[in-house]
Amino acid sequence: MCGIVGVIGKNEAIDSIYPALIALQHRGQDSAGAATFETAFHMKKGNGLVTTVFNPKNLERLRGTMGVGHVRYPTVGPGVAEDAQPFIITTPYGIALAHNGNLVNYFDLRQHLIENELRYLNSNCDAEIILNLLSIELMKIGAKQLEPRKVFSALAKVYERLIGSFAVVCIIAQKGLLAFRDPHGIKPLVYGRNKNGTCCASESVALDLLGCTDVTDVKAGQAIYTDTQGTWSKHQIVTPTKKDKAACIFEYVYFARPDSIIDGIGVYEARLRLGEELGKECRTHGLKPDAVIPVPDTARASAQIVAEVLGVKYREGLIKNRYIHRTFIMPTQQERIEAVRLKLNPIRSEIQNKKILLVDDSIVRGNTSREIIGLLREAGVREVYYASYSPPLRFPCVYGIDMQTKGEFIARNKSIKTIQKYIGADTLVYQTPAGLVRGVGAGDKGFCTACFTGTYPTDIPARLMKRIEADRIRKTSTCS
Ligand code: SF4
Repeated sequence: MCGIVGVIGKNEAIDSIYPALIALQHRGQDSAGAATFETAFHMKKGNGLVTTVFNPKNLERLRGTMGVGHVRYPTVGPGVAEDAQPFIITTPYGIALAHNGNLVNYFDLRQHLIENELRYLNSNCDAEIILNLLSIELMKIGAKQLEPRKVFSALAKVYERLIGSFAVVCIIAQKGLLAFRDPHGIKPLVYGRNKNGTCCASESVALDLLGCTDVTDVKAGQAIYTDTQGTWSKHQIVTPTKKDKAACIFEYVYFARPDSIIDGIGVYEARLRLGEELGKECRTHGLKPDAVIPVPDTARASAQIVAEVLGVKYREGLIKNRYIHRTFIMPTQQERIEAVRLKLNPIRSEIQNKKILLVDDSIVRGNTSREIIGLLREAGVREVYYASYSPPLRFPCVYGIDMQTKGEFIARNKSIKTIQKYIGADTLVYQTPAGLVRGVGAGDKGFCTACFTGTYPTDIPARLMKRIEADRIRKTSTCS
C-alpha cells in the first residue's frame, strides 16, 4: 500500500504535494518523496515519515508548477532508499512517476527490459518498470507536440504489458500531468480541481485538504491527462465489464482513512454497515457482553454499531499511544509484538470483572489479538469475546498489500476454534464473506476479495505466484 499525489497548476506544486502527502501518511510510513519540474527536475526522497524527509531547505528547492509525490509503507525487508519514489527518466520529454500497486508479472517485465530493451534498472520497484515502458512507447511517437490522443495511444501499449494493480500519477516535463488506473480499478485514485489547478491523489482526503471541489474517481481502466493550460482529456484505455471491476475491499476495512470516499462509497459509512453485519453475526452466537470495546482506531465506527445492535454499552477500554505506527505494517514479528504493548493500554475501570466484546478490523497472524487479550486478562476482565468485522484472511495479496505469505495467515489452515484458543478468547466471531460485501455496500460495484476467497481478478500464472511467495520469504525488498 502506498499513497500518491500529482499536481499541475499556476502555483508551486510542492505547496500542494507536501500537505497532501501528510494527509496520505497512513498509507505508508517507510519512505516519502516528491519530484517537481521547473526548467529541470527537482527531487527529494528518502526513508522516513513525510515530516522527516522534508524540511524547509529541501522544500524550497522543489520548485515548479507541476509535480508528483509518494509515501510508501514498510516493505518485507528493510526498505532500501533506492526503492523510494518518485522515479525520473529524462528521455523522451522527461517524466517523473509515482505508483501505488503491484505488478504480478514484475519479474518477467524486468527481465524483458534488461535483456530486450537494454534498460538499466536501479531499483526493485515496479514503478521503474512502468516508467520505462511508458518512455519506450512515448519514444516511438517521437512527436514534439504531445497531444492527449498520442499519450493515450502510448499508454494503451503499456497497458497491454501490465498484469496486476496500478494507480499512477506522472508529470511529463512542460507538457502535462497524467493519471491512470488499472483495468480492474484495484487501487483507488481520484482527481479534482481547485483555484490553483488539477490535483490527483490516492484518497479524497488529500484533495479535501487542497480545497478541490469536484472530486471524481478515475474509473477502472481510465486515464486523465491535464495539459499546462489546465485542459482535461479523459480516455478509457481499457473498458472493463461489470464483472472485471475489482476495487480492493480491504481499503474500506482497514487501509483508507474513514473520511475518504472511494468509488462513491464513504469509508466511514462502510465501516458502520460492517458493524451492523457483524452485530447480527454476534447475536446469532448469543453474545451478551457488558460492553463493546474497539481495538483503536480503525474498529471504532463498527464497534459502536455492534453495541447498538446488541443493545449494550459502547466503551473505550483501550487507549492508544498515537505516536506509535500502525502495527499491521511493521516489518518483523518481534517488532509487532512489542508494538502492541507500546501502543495500547487498558482502562481498568471499564474492564475489571466485566464481560467484554472486543471488535477489530481483521486478524492476520493472530499475535496482535493474542497480545491485546493478554492485556485485558492482566487488567482483570471476566470474559473476553473477540469479533473481526472482516472474514478470515487466508490468501496472500499479490496487488501490493504486503500481508505476507500464505503460511503466515493464522486462518490459512486453522479452524475458528483453534484460532480462538490461540488468541485466548472465550468466543471468536468473524464477519461472513457475504456480510463483508453487503456491509461495504457493493451494490453493482465489483470488489476484489481475493485475500478472503482466493479468487483473484487478474491472471496469476502459478510460476509467478511461486516467485512472489519465494521473494517474500527471502525478505527481499519490493515496493508497491
Ligand atoms: S487481495 Fe485483498 S488486500 Fe489485496 S487487493 Fe484484493 S482485497 Fe485488497
